[in-house]
Parts: sequence; C-alpha cells; structure tokens
Amino acid sequence: MPTAISLRGLSKHFGDVKAVDDLDLDIADGEFFSMLGPSGSGKTTVLRLIAGFEQPTAGRIELGGKDVTGRPPFARDVNTVFQDYAIFPHMSVRQNVEYGLRVKRVPRADRRARAEEALATVRLEGYGDRRPHQLSGGQRQRVALARALVNRPQVLLLDEPLGALDLKLRRQMQIELKQIQRDVGITFVFVTHDQEEALTMSDRIAVFNEGRIEQLATPVELYEQPASSFVAGFVGTSNLLEGPVARDVVGSDGQFVVRPEKVSMLAPADAPAEDGEHCVARGTVREVVYLGAATHSVVDLDAGATLTVAHQNTDRSIDAALERRGQQVLLVWSRDSLVPLGGNDAVPAGSTTGRQPSSPEENTP
Ligand code: ADP
Ligand code: MG
Repeated sequence: MPTAISLRGLSKHFGDVKAVDDLDLDIADGEFFSMLGPSGSGKTTVLRLIAGFEQPTAGRIELGGKDVTGRPPFARDVNTVFQDYAIFPHMSVRQNVEYGLRVKRVPRADRRARAEEALATVRLEGYGDRRPHQLSGGQRQRVALARALVNRPQVLLLDEPLGALDLKLRRQMQIELKQIQRDVGITFVFVTHDQEEALTMSDRIAVFNEGRIEQLATPVELYEQPASSFVAGFVGTSNLLEGPVARDVVGSDGQFVVRPEKVSMLAPADAPAEDGEHCVARGTVREVVYLGAATHSVVDLDAGATLTVAHQNTDRSIDAALERRGQQVLLVWSRDSLVPLGGNDAVPAGSTTGRQPSSPEENTP
C-alpha cells in the first residue's frame, strides 16, 4: 500500500507546552485513520500541521511521498472539514459546494457537474438550491463534506466533524461517513475524543496522550489488547487489577484488565469448582445501572478493586439484577480474557491456552 501521509520526528511546541512531541506515523492510501484522545492531547495540532495551517517546531511531513514541510496550505493536496462546518449562510448549497472550484477558476459547466456529483455522493441530490438555514444539522454537515470532496483531494482531514450533532444523528452519520469513504477511496484522517465513534469507523486508530501516540492499532486490537492502563481506560470500561488485588485475584504481580462483558456474576453459593482456568473474586454489588440493552453492575471486591460487570438484557428478567444491589456476589471470568498490561505479558498459573498460537499440525485434519 503506498503511503498517503508520513510524519517523521514531528514536534510542535507552544512555549512550554509540547502539543505534539516527536511523532512518527505512516498513514496508508485509502485508509480510514482515526486520532483518538482526550481534549488537549494534540490531535487538532497534528491535523493543522498536516494541512499546513501550523508550522512544526521540528520534523518532516510527507504527502504522497513528497516533502511538503514548510509549504503553504494551498500547495498541499488535502482538505479539512471542521466541527463548526463553516458553510456560508448567504449562499445556496450548490454555491457553497462550488466555492472551492470557483476560487480555482474551474469553468462553470464543469463546476456544476462536479458539485452535483459531490452532492450525490453525500446523498443530497436535489438540495442544491436550498439555503443552509433550510437544512438539518446532519444535512449541513454533509454540505461541508461535499464542499471538501468536490476538490477531489488525496487526503481529507476531519476534526470532530460530528461533535455538534445529537447522538442518534451522529451514529447515523458515522455509518454514512464510512460508506462515503469507501465509495470515494480518499484517505480520511478523522479526529475524535469519542471512543465509540473511532471504533465504529476506523481501519486503524492512534490513541493520543500528551502529544504522543500511546497505542496504534485496529479497533479490535485496541479493545481486546490495550497496551497500557491509559488506553484500557480510554477505550471501553477498564477493570484494572493491580498490586495486592492482582496478587490476590490473579495470583500475580503486575497489571491486568478484564472487560465488563467477560465477567459473570454468580450467587456466593454457586461457586465454581477450582479448575485453574478461571479467576474468582468475592464482592458486594454497590450499584446496578440499567442501560436498556444492557445492565451494568458495579462491584466492590473484598480484595480492594472495583469492577464493572456487563450483562446483556436478552430477556426481560432484569429485576433479578436490580435486586442484587447491596448483596454479596461472586465474579468469575476466564483467565483467557485477562489482558496483561505494560511489559508483563504472561498470564500466570492455570492456563494461557486461549492465547497460544496453535501449531500447524493441530490445524491439519
Ligand atoms: P486536542 O485537539 O487533542 O484537544 P490540541 O491539539 O488542540 O488538542 O492542543 C494540544 C495542546 O496544545 C493543548 O495543551 C493546547 O492548549 C495547546 N495549544 C494548541 N494550540 C495552541 C496555540 N495556538 N497556542 C498555544 N497553545 C496551544
Ligand atoms: Mg481538537
């Protein structure tokens, strides 16, 4: 796969603040790449550096294999879509979409055809004559997208473009954006602080923390194999076991994460037989949170940590879970679902069979 964007040793300092700190990153052609991280972690600054709105303190930026460091924004084959869309209220939808082409002096008929094509791509055929105030939030966002796509850039940079939309519309637009990206085949670099959004849309995700990439992985890897407690806590609900709790429950020093949906909650009388394949922890249900599709129970372990247990509400017997508030329970999970963090990659004792790559002989019938 050819590389769309290469960042080498990229830094941007504002006084004492290292907004971007010695970043190395390659983004492939046609990739849907997300930068995920808390507010202030440097995501927008990276986008602005790529777009050329900001000049780096150190390092190099290549687009399509060409060094563009120091070049102005208009000399880079990228377009940016911002959260506030910045569409012109006094222009029609079509005029908004054509704007970039007019600036580039593309002939009128050509402009028209490309604008109509871009509007069709974002499923806004027939909306060309409307004014922005006659559109919904989601439609305005799509106009902003069409306005960027009409330039046919190699790379589209999107900075929290769905942030202003309500949850339902945001989820719908996530799916649509992903489809549009597949259709047009342009490299998307998508910035968000919303982990669910990043998981939904991305081929790969870079998790940012204080100007650095904490982990770079596919959505599945990020969720199932977080590399640090920061990532585990930022992507999904992290159930962290460390120190004395890890010794007591896992039988090892070190840090471990177990995801809420991997944990079962039993009555103390239903303790499973000791088999070395499971971790068992005693605790008290502090809170039960009904979320519609699922119920979350927050359990204080006798050993010291607090774990969240997720239960899919596949039937309507939710009352049993609600009645457990304040009661003693047993939490049970397979050792295979324990994720070791930061350096200690062995899950001790019992079994690690689920993680061992199987030998070729085992796969031959
Ligand atoms: P994010 O987009 O992840 O929220 P930003 O890239 O906007 O983060 O900001 C990263 C850090 O750089 C923050 O600490 C922010 O305050 C600082 N920063 C960003 N832009 C400027 C600027 N123009 N001047 C001074 N500090 C800035
Ligand atoms: Mg930002």
